Amino acid sequence: MRLRVENLTYSYGDKDAINGVSLEVNQGEFVGLIGPNGSGKSTVLKNIYRGLQPDSGTITMDGDNLLRMPYRESALKMAVVGQENDVPFDFMAEEIVAMGRSPHKKLFDADNAQDKKIVHHSLEHVGMEKMAKRNYLRLSGGEKQRVIIARAVAQESDFYILDEPTNHLDISYQMQIFDFMKRLENVTVLSAIHDLNMAALYCDRIYVLQEGKVVLSGTPDEVLTEENIYQVYGVKSSVVKHPITGRRAITFLPAGI
Ligand code: ADP
Ligand code: MG
Repeated sequence: MRLRVENLTYSYGDKDAINGVSLEVNQGEFVGLIGPNGSGKSTVLKNIYRGLQPDSGTITMDGDNLLRMPYRESALKMAVVGQENDVPFDFMAEEIVAMGRSPHKKLFDADNAQDKKIVHHSLEHVGMEKMAKRNYLRLSGGEKQRVIIARAVAQESDFYILDEPTNHLDISYQMQIFDFMKRLENVTVLSAIHDLNMAALYCDRIYVLQEGKVVLSGTPDEVLTEENIYQVYGVKSSVVKHPITGRRAITFLPAGI
């Protein structure tokens, strides 16, 4: 799997949201998209998963033009995880996970034994098998998000697009969500990530968006420096290599220090 985005531009009405964004995701990588609120992260991802149609630019997967692909075919190639409140109606957890099977099926096809097995395994992957029959709307934020991850897993795609999947979750759930992704074998991930320390811990490479443009890219070590963080977020920080994780650890400094 190789995703290539070149010169992607998109405006909402006459307001430019992203302008000339290029990025690449290679097989097996965990790539992060970071940047301040409104910098265009979600817009980039929506253009890739075809929730929006680019004004210009090209997007290819393994050399094939994604924008000309039948929707079903592209839907099979990527599993999308947004925020936990993106689910429309009142369903049981397992029904939501079963929706992950829909790109594989024709309209009104019933779930077969194989689908049921996949749904069960997907719930198991996120430790939610005991809550299969629970009403989604009555789950906690962390449980809901695990169900959404299970739905993506049930799709059996090897490419995941995540849009700030841990927003509003407690720290233990935030870690859990990314750990679930890491435990999946042979998958490739492109994720918008709000939290720079999470990006440092989980990403192989990072792209930084600012006002709709990619302003920096590289490994977390290259990108997450005190200078860059100040440039992009306007905040002073202290960045050290953490003795246990070996990853960058960022502490933000209040004014006056
Ligand atoms: P991020 O995900 O980095 O917070 P977005 O991609 O959501 O950024 O937004 C990029 C820009 O596009 C922002 O200026 C935002 O206000 C604008 N925008 C996003 N969604 C819409 C929309 N549906 N209509 C109009 N403007 C939008
Ligand atoms: Mg967003």
